[in-house]
Amino acid sequence: MIKNYLKRTTEEKWALGHFNFSEDDALRAIAQAAFNLKAPILVGTSEGERKHIGLKQAVNLVKAFREEFGIPIFLNADHHKSFDAVKEAVDAGYDAILADFSALPFEENVKMTKQSVEYAKSKNPDIIIEGELGYMRGESKLQKEIIEIKSEDLTKPEEAGRFVRETGVDMLAPAVGNIHGIAANAPNIDFQRIGDIKKAVGSEVYLVLHGGSGMSESDFKNAIEAGISMIHINTEIRVAFTEALRKTLEEMPEETTPYKILTPSIEAMKKVIEEKLRIFGSVSKL
Ligand SMILES: [Zn+2]
Repeated sequence: MIKNYLKRTTEEKWALGHFNFSEDDALRAIAQAAFNLKAPILVGTSEGERKHIGLKQAVNLVKAFREEFGIPIFLNADHHKSFDAVKEAVDAGYDAILADFSALPFEENVKMTKQSVEYAKSKNPDIIIEGELGYMRGESKLQKEIIEIKSEDLTKPEEAGRFVRETGVDMLAPAVGNIHGIAANAPNIDFQRIGDIKKAVGSEVYLVLHGGSGMSESDFKNAIEAGISMIHINTEIRVAFTEALRKTLEEMPEETTPYKILTPSIEAMKKVIEEKLRIFGSVSKL
C-alpha cells in the first residue's frame, strides 16, 4: 500500500518518485528503472496524458508491469481538475488521485476537494487523495522565459493546516517556490516554508513536491529533509525522450521499424529516472 511507503519516507528521510507517461514506452522506461533499482514508484497521467493512452489502458498496462516485475508501481491521476475527471479515475481503478482545485478560491477548493475525498474513499478505502493549495506557475515543458514567483502564490502554513483538516486529504501539493517545467531561471525553493507546512499538516499528511525537473541534487535533499515525501518529474523525461528521438531519426533516416527508432528514447528516459531515484533515496526500499 502507498500509505506504508509514505510513512517510511518521513521516518527514513527519502522520497517516492512520481513520473508521468502518456504512452507505453515511457511507462516501460519508468517500470524498468524502478525494477533495476528495487524502488517503489508512482506513475502518473494528467488529464491530457490519460486521454492519449486511455483510462482503462493506463490502469491495465500498469497492472501488467506490476505483475511482470513484481514491484509496487502505483498509478496516480495527476492534476485532475474537475469532479467528473476525479470520479472517472477512481472508478477506473487508479491508486491515487490529485484532485487539483487550486485555481479556485480557498473555500471552493476545500469544498470540491472534500467532495472528491468522500467519493473516492467510499469506492476504495485504500485510495490516496492529494489536494493542492497555492498557485504553481509554469507548464511541463522547456520554457525560455524567466518565471517569477510572487509571495502571494505560496502556500500559507496555517491555511494548509485548515485545508487538510477540512478536506481529509492524505497528501498535499504546496506551492513553495517550485514551478512546473523548466524555466530560464533556477527554482528558488523555500525550505523553511516546507518545514512549516509539514508541521501545520501533521505527521499523517504527506507533502508532494511538483515540478522537480530542473532542480538540483541539493534542492531535492533539502526538500526531503524539510518534509517532502514524494517528488514529481515530468519535463526532464519528456526532454530525454524527444532529444533521443530527434537524434535517432537523424542518424538512421532509412529506419522504419518503430521499436528500433524508440529504443534509444526508452534508454534515455531510464537513465534520467534512475538518476533521480538514486537522489531521492528510494533505491532498495521495496
Ligand atoms: Zn504537477
